[in-house]
Formats: sequence, C-alpha cells, structure tokens
Amino acid sequence: TVDELTGLINRRAFYERADEHIALAHRHGSPLSLLMIDIDRFKLVNDHYGHDTGDLVLRHVAGIMKAELREGDWVARWGGEEFIIFLHQSDTAAAHVAMERLRQAIKGNPVSTAHGPLDITSSIGIGSFRGEGDLASVLSEADGCLFEAKHAGRDRVVSLVAQLDEAYDRRSWHGPNLRGSLRGLGPAQASWRPGRDRQGRERGGLPAATGADHHSRDEEADGNRGPAVQDVGQ
Ligand code: GH3
Ligand code: MG
Ligand code: MG
Repeated sequence: TVDELTGLINRRAFYERADEHIALAHRHGSPLSLLMIDIDRFKLVNDHYGHDTGDLVLRHVAGIMKAELREGDWVARWGGEEFIIFLHQSDTAAAHVAMERLRQAIKGNPVSTAHGPLDITSSIGIGSFRGEGDLASVLSEADGCLFEAKHAGRDRVVSLVAQLDEAYDRRSWHGPNLRGSLRGLGPAQASWRPGRDRQGRERGGLPAATGADHHSRDEEADGNRGPAVQDVGQ
C-alpha cells in the first residue's frame, strides 16, 4: 500500500483511509477538502532527460508536499505524476490558500539533477465536502477543477467560484485591505464551469458559478480577482 518510488501511500490505501476521515469530518461538522495535483509537462522531463530524472522529480515533489502539509493532512500518489491531498479543517477557500502556497513551493524549488537545476510547475484542482457530499462527487469536482487549471495554461490552482464568493461575502468587512492582499496571490484562479472532466465526460450536479454575480465584482474589473481568503484561519 506504500508507493516504492515516493514513499507515499498509493491509491488503494487512499480509498481505505478516506472513508474514515470523511466520516469523522461529517460527525464533527468540520470542513474537509481534497486536491488533485498534477505535474505540468512531465512527459517532457522523461523525454528530454530520461526516466530516472523523471523519477527524481516525483520524489522531489513528494518531499515538498510532505513538508508543506500540516499534522493531520495527508497525501497519496494517485498514479503517474498525479497526487491527491486531504486537507482537514479546510473549506474551499482555506484549501485554495494552502494549495497556492504549495504551488509556489514547488515552483520555487528547482530539482537538482545531473543536467542542472530543473524548474517544475504543477496544476491543482480543489474539491470540498459540503453537507453530506460523497467522495465520488468531491473527486469529480477536484478533477474538473484540475482540468480547468490545465486548460487555462497550467501552473495554477483552481477551485469552485461559487464557494469562494461565499467566503468573500463572509469576510467582506475586511474591505480594501483584503482586496489589496489578494493581489499578491499570483495566478491562482477561481473559475470553473460544470461541463466536462479531463476525460471529456459530461458532468453535472455541481454548484454552478453564477456568471452575473461573478463578473459584477469590482476586483474582477482589473483582472486580478483572487479568492477572498487571505484571512482564513488554519
Ligand atoms: P500535463 O501538463 O497535461 O499534465 O502533461 P504531462 O506531460 O505531465 O502529462 P502526461 O499524462 O501526458 O504524461 C505523464 C507521464 O508520466 C507519462 C508517463 O510515462 C509518465 N510517468 C508515469 N509514471 C511514471 C513514473 O513512475 N516515473 C516516470 N519517470 N515517469 C512516469
Ligand atoms: Mg497526469
Ligand atoms: Mg502532468
């Protein structure tokens, strides 16, 4: 159940462990999010530098993820160059902030290889348990967001905008300060439309981002809209 290359638990162990964590979060009414993270253009690493360097990159990224996570969060290798992370006590907004930090940590720590330092970027999609949300639908949400992150150009975090709008409304009393702080968040993106997942399957049943609301927000005007989440405690 442990992946030999990275030392992370594998997909099967993920499923075994997930149910327990979901049940616990539901019982305590605490927020829970999971993220799918995929290394960008990883095939090129293998093609240009060989499989061994690819393996080195996977171990490197696994190490960064382990170092970045809090006690109680956990990560599994989903397969290939894809990983899945469970964040306890995190709604979508908090998860978005944490994953933006992880994205920057991966980008900011080149891998030392025999060919010199290698810059790596990653794309991250967020899914959150709401109410009695089940694992399959949250995985589908994360997968859809990851699809959007890739589609929008990679090297970014994507989560459901509706949820972020809610978080924004809860914290709007922070006013200009908060908005100012959001500008520092980088290319994190809060846009996702129900439509298709990465396999091109039709999707449905997820909370839709209401376009009208979304575009009426003033921070949208300068193209710098980020999640209103800077102050979310963790
Ligand atoms: P994208 O930015 O869209 O994610 O592109 P990508 O190249 O990262 O994605 P793609 O799925 O095309 O390539 C993933 C590659 O990962 C293909 C596969 O050969 C490679 N891979 C899967 N598992 C391993 C592994 O354990 N070690 C190495 N070195 N490569 C692996
Ligand atoms: Mg992949
Ligand atoms: Mg990839």
